[in-house]
Order: sequence, then structure tokens, then C-alpha cells
Amino acid sequence: MINKKICMLGSFSVGKTSLVRRFIDSLFSDKYHTTVGVKVDKKQIDIDGQAVNLMLWDLAGEDEFNKLQMSFLRGSSGFLIVIDGTRAATLDKALELHQRISPDFSDTPFVMALNKADLKDQWELDMDKVNSLMEQGWSIFETSAKSGECVEEIFQQLSRAMLG
Ligand code: GDP
Ligand code: MG
Repeated sequence: MINKKICMLGSFSVGKTSLVRRFIDSLFSDKYHTTVGVKVDKKQIDIDGQAVNLMLWDLAGEDEFNKLQMSFLRGSSGFLIVIDGTRAATLDKALELHQRISPDFSDTPFVMALNKADLKDQWELDMDKVNSLMEQGWSIFETSAKSGECVEEIFQQLSRAMLG
């Protein structure tokens, strides 16, 4: 059995915990839970006939971005960087975060979730910025923890990249 650690990254309230919950339990809740500390959820998936045990690390708390510690990231096989499509600033925060981790994790795959795709009429993302990232080869998906859109797919995609 292969074990792989994935860290959920992104600003407060972008939907990290909701994406994990949707992926693990097929559930969504509108109720806001401020989880405290680190939560690790596990799910076994199948990648091309290979069983992979994913460990999803979700950092929680008010100021998770600023408190992001190396100890949380250590041993990661992949990162899921989450953005809230309704808040343009969360993309800038995500890019800042990527810059911060890339010196230590230049070979670690990551995918980016443009989350809250069910609220697309309220999106305010700079799509030129998004498109230029995609041109640089970033894997970017529009997801919704609420509808489930692309949630399974994004974890599959990241897992495939992690297995090389
Ligand atoms: P976190 O701080 O990044 O873990 O964000 P949460 O998962 O706690 O979600 C923050 C808020 O956004 C909660 O009220 C969620 O219900 C809501 N939320 C998360 N994902 C989605 C989504 O895909 N669509 C909508 N409409 N709301 C979402
Ligand atoms: Mg959370």
C-alpha cells in the first residue's frame, strides 16, 4: 500500500475543509466550522489499478496562512491550493503561498482549485491571470464543494501526478 500526504493550502474560508469533506464523505454543509489545529483525513483511492492511501492534511484556525509552518508541510507528496472564485484576493494569496513553499518543494506536484464554481455569477477572478498560469503548465480546475463539481477529479489528477 502506498501512502501519500496531501496538504490543503489557501486563505481562510476558501473551502479547504469543505472540499475534503465532500471528497471523503460526499457531504457539504453551509454551516461554518472553524476547525482548530490540524485535521488529517484518510481515503483510499485507485489510480490505474494501484491502491493509494491518501492522507489529507487540513490546517485550520483564524490565521492559517500566516501560521503555515514547515512542520505541517514536511513529507508532503502533493499540494492542493484552493482559491475562492468570489474573492480575487485569494488568488494573490495563493500565488504568494506558492512562492513561499516552492524553494523547498520545487519537485512536489500541486493542483489549484478555483472553488465555489456554483457561485460563478459572483466570481471576480482575473481570468487573464488564471489563463497565464495555465499557459505556464499549472493544473487548474473549477471546483465546487457544494455541488461536487470536479472534486473527485482534482484529487485523482493530483494523485496521478504524485505517482509520477
Ligand atoms: P476553509 O477555511 O478554507 O476550510 O473553508 P471552509 O471549507 O470552512 O468553507 C468556508 C465557507 O465557504 C463555508 O461557509 C462553506 O460552506 C463555504 N463553501 C466552501 N466551499 C464552497 C463551495 O464550493 N460553494 C459554496 N457556495 N460555498 C462553499
Ligand atoms: Mg478549514
